[in-house]
Amino acid sequence: MCPENQEGAFLIRESESKKGQLSLSVFDGAVVKHYRIRQEAGEGFFLSKKNIFKTLNAFVDHYTNNSDGLCVKLRKPCIKKKVPAPIDLSYKTADQWEIDRNSLKLLKKLGYGQFGEVWEGLWNNTTPVAIKTLKPGSMDPKDFLREAQIMKNLRHPKLIQLYAVCTLEDPIYIITELMRHGSLLEYLQNDAGSEIHLPEQIDMAAQVASGMAYLESQNYIHRDLAARNVLVGEHNVYKVADFGLARVFKVENENVYEAKHETKLPVKWTAPEAIRSNKFSIKSDVWSFGILLFEIITYGKMPYSGMMGYQVIQKLDKGYRIPQPANCPDKLYYIMLECWNAEPKGRPTFETLHWKLEDYDMDSTSYIDANAFVK
Ligand code: ATP
Repeated sequence: MCPENQEGAFLIRESESKKGQLSLSVFDGAVVKHYRIRQEAGEGFFLSKKNIFKTLNAFVDHYTNNSDGLCVKLRKPCIKKKVPAPIDLSYKTADQWEIDRNSLKLLKKLGYGQFGEVWEGLWNNTTPVAIKTLKPGSMDPKDFLREAQIMKNLRHPKLIQLYAVCTLEDPIYIITELMRHGSLLEYLQNDAGSEIHLPEQIDMAAQVASGMAYLESQNYIHRDLAARNVLVGEHNVYKVADFGLARVFKVENENVYEAKHETKLPVKWTAPEAIRSNKFSIKSDVWSFGILLFEIITYGKMPYSGMMGYQVIQKLDKGYRIPQPANCPDKLYYIMLECWNAEPKGRPTFETLHWKLEDYDMDSTSYIDANAFVK
C-alpha cells in the first residue's frame, strides 16, 4: 500500500478465490480489511440484504456517507503502487536467473537456518531483496539449487517469489522477495494476542491455504509446511516459503513421493504415514497445515508440548490428537481434526480448506464481520 493512502482508501476488485465475484478492500488506518460484495441477478450489489444498490456507484456513495457496519467510511479510491515485475531483476547472463553478485549489497542479517544465513539487501542500489546464502561445504550446492529450480517455476501471490541466483562462486546466493516482518512463528509469538485476534488468524490461515492450493494444483509437495516457513509482509500479507524439500508430485508413483530414510524430519509437523513409510503427498502437507493452524491459534506454541517426537508417533498411532486449545472455536478445531485424519484420502484438499477459511463465519452479531476477510 502506498503511503499516500489514508484511512478509508478502498478498492473494488474481483475476488481471488471466487472468480466473477467482487471484493471490497478498505484501509482502516492500520490494516486492510476485505468484504465480499454479493450480487443477485436483477437485484444489484450488497453487503447485507438490508441495503441493496442498483449500481456500484450507488454502493460506493452510500458507504462514503455512512460506514453502516464497515470498519470505516469509504473515502478515496486506493492509489496503486507500480511494483516492478520480479523478472526485471534478472538480466540475461549465464542464464536468465544468474545475476552479478556485485549488483547486491548485503545490509542486515535477518536470520539463519540449517544451510546458511538470510540477509536483507539491495539489488542495484534500488530494489530491496532477501538474500539467502549457502554455507560453503554445508551441503551439496545442487540441493540448494533445487530449491531455486522449483521456486522459479512457481508463481503465486501467496508464495515467496524467487528473483535470481548467484551460483558461479561460493557462497551461493538465492535472491527472493523481502518480507518485512520475518517468520510467522516469531510474528505470532511476539504478538501473543495483543493485536492479532481470530479474524486475523483466520485470514493468515486462508492466505496460506491459498498458496498451498496453488502448489496442489501444480502437483508440488512442500514437505516442510510450518509457521517457521511462512513469512509475513506488510499489510497482513502471508506467504509460504522454503521449498527446499519439495518435490514434483510423482503421478506414476501413486501420487506419493518416496523419501530417503536418512532425511531429518520435523516430526511434530509430519503426517504418520510420512514418518512411518516416508510417504509424502499433498495430503501429508494437509496434515502439517493442521499443525500450522494449531500454531496460529496458540500464537506459536510448540505442538504436543512436553512430548518427545517418538512419544508423539506412538500416541498418534493409538488415535491421540492434540486437544482443542482453550481459545480455539469448535469450527476451527474441527478443521484441524479433518487435517489429522489417519487416512490421507480422508483429509480435505487445500482448495476446500481455502474456501472454508475464506467463508469462515466468525459467528459475530455483525453481518460485516461474517463477511470480512474475504480475498
Ligand atoms: P531451515 O534452515 O530449516 O529452513 P528456517 O526456515 O528458519 O530454517 P531460513 O529459511 O534460512 O531458515 O530463514 C531464517 C530466518 O530468516 C527466518 O526465520 C526469517 O526470520 C528470515 N527470513 C528468511 N527468508 C526471508 C525473507 N524472504 N524475507 C525476510 N526474512 C526472511
